[in-house]
Amino acid sequence: MPLEIVTVPCLSDNYAYLAHDPDTKATALIDAPESVPILAALTVRGWRLSDVLITHHHEDHVMGLGDILKQHPAQVIGHAKDAHRLPPLDLAVAEGDTVTIGGQTGTVIDVSGHTIGHIAFYFDESQAAFTADSLMAMGCGRVFEGTMHMMWDSLQKLAALPGDTMVYSGHEYTIANAKFAQTIEPHNPDLLSRIAEVTAQRSEGQATVPSTMAVELATNQQILFCVQASHRLNPRLEWRVPGMPRSLPRYGDGKTAFDTPKANNIAQMRWNVIATWKKKLESGWWSTKFWILMRAWLVPGTGCKNVPLPIQTRGVPTCLHSPRHLSRQFIPPWP
Ligand SMILES: [Zn+2]
Ligand SMILES: [Zn+2]
Repeated sequence: MPLEIVTVPCLSDNYAYLAHDPDTKATALIDAPESVPILAALTVRGWRLSDVLITHHHEDHVMGLGDILKQHPAQVIGHAKDAHRLPPLDLAVAEGDTVTIGGQTGTVIDVSGHTIGHIAFYFDESQAAFTADSLMAMGCGRVFEGTMHMMWDSLQKLAALPGDTMVYSGHEYTIANAKFAQTIEPHNPDLLSRIAEVTAQRSEGQATVPSTMAVELATNQQILFCVQASHRLNPRLEWRVPGMPRSLPRYGDGKTAFDTPKANNIAQMRWNVIATWKKKLESGWWSTKFWILMRAWLVPGTGCKNVPLPIQTRGVPTCLHSPRHLSRQFIPPWP
């Protein structure tokens, strides 16, 4: 039986998750922002914690752990690379390792970028990916410690998961991400309907996560560009970045989620926007603005949380600061 997953709102906008295996009664906690609501959620259900899976070292993901472990001694699992700055680990893991919650096995995916040593946990039988501050609803975590390339690679790995994977992210940032997304793609119909949906959810105080990978692929510009960059949706959008995997998992009919007329329309629409910008640039439009827009649109991580780009990338060691670099690596030949 798949894991039963409970979302536990914590602090001002964090989410922790309880993942319960009904067969063995094992229960894992994914991240521990705050003890009180998590302990309450366990008590109400009569569950005992067996494991705690930590995604990354940030305070708002670990600071409730001490109090929780006093009442629920459990195995603490985190990234080996981050062991020096995480609470004491019972099991240190790395990319490709497996973790178990009772009878359910999950894979560890290194999704560094937001921090170095951020991991996600993917449970294929339960179709669940706990992505915390890497992939988020309509956005991704801010790139604090890693580079844009790292975040790009991480989103690539997540984008390759099946479309029906539920994406359990670490924060309720959806409305802010949606506002930013809308400035980039004001006419994307999938985006507009999702914005209406999440606005209604938030006005009723509901969580907007989890979402599904398919929904993120249609409306999350950060992840969509990772995928578009490595897949031939449109002959003119065949961008190649060294090291990127070239194929998505295929469904029964041999097609990927992007071999659809709709995906091609979106690709075409975005291409048209690029062509418009190019004309503006050629007609003497303010070129700095062009590059900022272009980069926000193309490079994962730059648009998160509605933070203006100069703030977001300040101090981040990335080779994407210079437009010349950007054009060499990411921009397709002009139409
Ligand atoms: Zn974080
Ligand atoms: Zn966080």
